[in-house]
Order: sequence, then structure tokens, then C-alpha cells
Amino acid sequence: MHNQDQALIFELSTPGRIGYSLPEMDVPEADLNGLLPEGYLRVDEPELPEVSELDIMRHYTALSRRNHGVDSGFYPLGSCTMKYNPKINENVARFNGFAHVHPLQDESSVQGALELLYDLQEHLIEITGMDEVTLQPAAGAHGEWTGLMMIRAYHEANGDLKRTKVIVPDSAHGTNPASATVAGLETITVKSNENGLVDLEDLRRVVGEDTAALMLTNPNTLGLFEENILEMAEIVHEAGGKLYYDGANLNAVLSKARPGDMGFDVVHLNLHKTFTGPHGGGGPGSGPVGVKADLIPFLPKPVIAKRGEEYVLDYDRPQSIGRVKPYYGNFGINVRAYTYIRSMGPDGLKAVTEYAVLNANYMMRRLAEYYDLPFDRHCKHEFVLSGRRQKKLGVRTLDIAKRLLDFGYHPPTIYFPLNVEECIMIEPTETESKETLDSFVDIMIQIAKEAEENPEVVQEAPHTTVVGRLDETTAARKPVLKYQKA
Ligand SMILES: *Cc1c(COP(=O)(O)O)cnc(C)c1O
Repeated sequence: MHNQDQALIFELSTPGRIGYSLPEMDVPEADLNGLLPEGYLRVDEPELPEVSELDIMRHYTALSRRNHGVDSGFYPLGSCTMKYNPKINENVARFNGFAHVHPLQDESSVQGALELLYDLQEHLIEITGMDEVTLQPAAGAHGEWTGLMMIRAYHEANGDLKRTKVIVPDSAHGTNPASATVAGLETITVKSNENGLVDLEDLRRVVGEDTAALMLTNPNTLGLFEENILEMAEIVHEAGGKLYYDGANLNAVLSKARPGDMGFDVVHLNLHKTFTGPHGGGGPGSGPVGVKADLIPFLPKPVIAKRGEEYVLDYDRPQSIGRVKPYYGNFGINVRAYTYIRSMGPDGLKAVTEYAVLNANYMMRRLAEYYDLPFDRHCKHEFVLSGRRQKKLGVRTLDIAKRLLDFGYHPPTIYFPLNVEECIMIEPTETESKETLDSFVDIMIQIAKEAEENPEVVQEAPHTTVVGRLDETTAARKPVLKYQKA
């Protein structure tokens, strides 16, 4: 598949060909001698490809097409909510008044921006059932850490210094134990039962006077709703611990149930998942944290507050854990989330949840005949399959993921969560049509049949991508990061 627009730019180079035109220089050439140390001055001409403007445009356009994004195809990466990012969000984020404000401007000159942030906080308070929200954290994991630091500060303020342990179920998102560690707390793992839910007996066993908090991912990473939440809340609160809700995947419960009503003290949301912020490639994201009243004094400062008709940044917060991010969070992502919430309205947000859950259950039932379903119950926004049936035929989950690339799909999350053998975790999101879901399921069924009839085609995939099957060990140990002529 080596057509013209895939040739690499160095291969297209022709001596003397140029892609720019600059006016004649009409000022004296700068004398760099003495300005920079000798060693930093270039002696030879740079070896740059010599190409026309058209060549370079085709080069970068071809490279951009090698990317997979939610705007180019289905992206069912579990626990990531790769849903469509409505373009109205982008339009609003580009309004001059939002795009061109400076974070060091005087409060009086950014009242509109502060009002938007304040209003977004109010919406998130309503959505989560909490008493106050901070928009500072830049991502989900950052929100987790912020929430745990507040819980820590709360226990310390009470002189309760022995509360150093965070209970984390084995079905939690991987960032949970990591955040606990970074917050200087120790993680205690609590097991799942045969239904994939937190084992209450095990929870009762580990909870105690040293419990700082229980961190619950709900729905858990198996896509299952923790049915015994109220009982868990009671167990942990009775022992004096706080309850942390990992709400990164709130599109499974949005407008249906609220962490605040379930007894949770802290919750974080991922605006770059549930609330349609674009993500992938490391950000920017936004991981707001909501808290109940007794944790409000510990919120990061400044707090965006309303005094009469005026919006202010309140720094006078003596018990605050301090700033967790320069300025007031990732403003552009907050603008997008605000636009989304306002354009959907309460009924729209309810429909989000209904379709996210319906889509996942529909796919799960269609695929259950061809792949093992380790937990055969209604799922929420995502579900896990196991590739152990295919593994017996010599086809691993990794091979299935690679084979999907041949059909233009981003593979699902694989080998996570760890408690499912050959795990395949699929999250369709609510924004995909039935036709898209069906096409993906049809291909998954085709791959299951190939595993039985023609396993090599799966084992050797991908066949149609620019780069074929890599030797993953060598790629990790001895990466080739520079262009090399084939
Ligand atoms: C994505 C996710 C996180 C982490 O969010 P980041 O923004 O990637 O840091 C935490 N918990 C759950 C359940 C998630 O899905």
C-alpha cells in the first residue's frame, strides 16, 4: 500500500525544490558570533527534506489520517468513555471572551468567565447531590488525589491521626490505589464476590479504626452497579471512615442516582468522559471534586464564590489543602462541559444514561453466544467478556484486538480488569447508532469464527494497517524513534 500520499517526506526530497517564498532580506544579517557560545552555532546546513508546499501538505494530512479518533471511527475502549464530542462545545470554547481571557486578569474584568465556572459548579452539585464542588483538578486521578488529601486533612483536623488506610476493591479503577499511595495513605484491597461485587464480609473484616476511607468505583470496572452501596456506606461510616465515589463513569447513573444520596462524602467526575470533553493523548482534562458539608473547609483554594451579584475568588480559607493546579482548572474543558450540560438539559442527560446502558447491554447479549461472559447479569455503561474460549484455540485476546484494526476499529480495553482471564472490556457509549453497534458486533462474531476455522489470520493480524504486527518486546526495549529509510 505504498501510494504517493504515503511516501515519507525524506523520500520525496528533491534537491532545490522549495515550499516557501520569502521576500528578499532588506536588513543586515545578524552577527551571531559572540551572542551564542561557539558550540551552539550550526556549522553545516541542516539536512531538511526539500519539498514543495503541496508535498508537505500531503505528508501531514496523510500522517493525520493514520490516527484513530472518535471523529474517524468507533472507539469502544472500556472505562474511557470515548464518546462523540459535540462541535457546539468547540464553538463556545472559541468565543473571544472565553478563549482570550488571561488567568491573571483582575476579577472585575472576568466576571462572565467566573459566572460560568460558578454555574458549572452549581450544576455539578445538583447532578452529584453534594454540597460544594471544586473545578481545579486537571484529571480523574488528580481529582482522586485531591479528594483523598481533603479526607486526610479532615481526619488530621479531628486529631484522628491513625486513619491512614484506604480500602479499595479489586474491581476498582487502577488509578484508585495509585492516588491513595501518592496521597501518603496505604491501600487495603477488598475482594469481589462471585457476582463481581464488593464482598461485604471481606469489607467488614478490613474496616476499622485505621480506615481513612473506602474508595468505590461505581459502576465498578466490570460495568456492574454495586447493589449493596447503602450497606457499605453504613459499615464504613460506623467505623468513622469517609466514603469516596469514583464517578469518572457517571454516564451510567446520571440523572438516575446521585452519589450524595447514597451517603458518599466525596466524589470526582471526569468532565472529559461523561461530559464530552475531548480526551486521549494526555489531556487537557478536568476532574472536579464534590464534597459534603464537613469537608468544605478543606477544598483547594481559591474557591469561586458569589457575593451578592459579584463573583469572587476566595483565598481566605485557613483549612484549605491549598492550590492543586495553577489558576482555576482547565478552563476550556470546563466551558465545553458547561455547554454540554446546558444544551442537553435534564431530560437529555437522563437519555444519555438510558442509551449508554441500553447500548452496552445490547452488545453484551449479542456477543454472549460467541465469547464467554464471566458475569452474566445486566451491565451498566460497559461490560467485560473473556477470550478464554478463543485462547484454547490458540487465539489470544491480544490477537483479537489486533484483528479489529483490520476493520478500522479501535480495540476495546484488554487484560483489564485483572480479575478476568483474557479480559475484553467494551464501552460503546450512548452516542453510537444501532448500525455502528451492529457492524462492530458482526466483526467480533466473524473474528470468533476465524479463531475456530482459520486462526492464523487472527494470530498474524493486523494485515491492512501501515505498520503490521510488531514484536512488542523489542519495540519496548529497543525502540526505533528516528526515521529510517526502508
Ligand atoms: C478514567 C478513569 C479514571 C482516571 O481518570 P483520568 O482522567 O484518566 O486520570 C479513574 N476512574 C475511573 C473509573 C475511570 O474510568
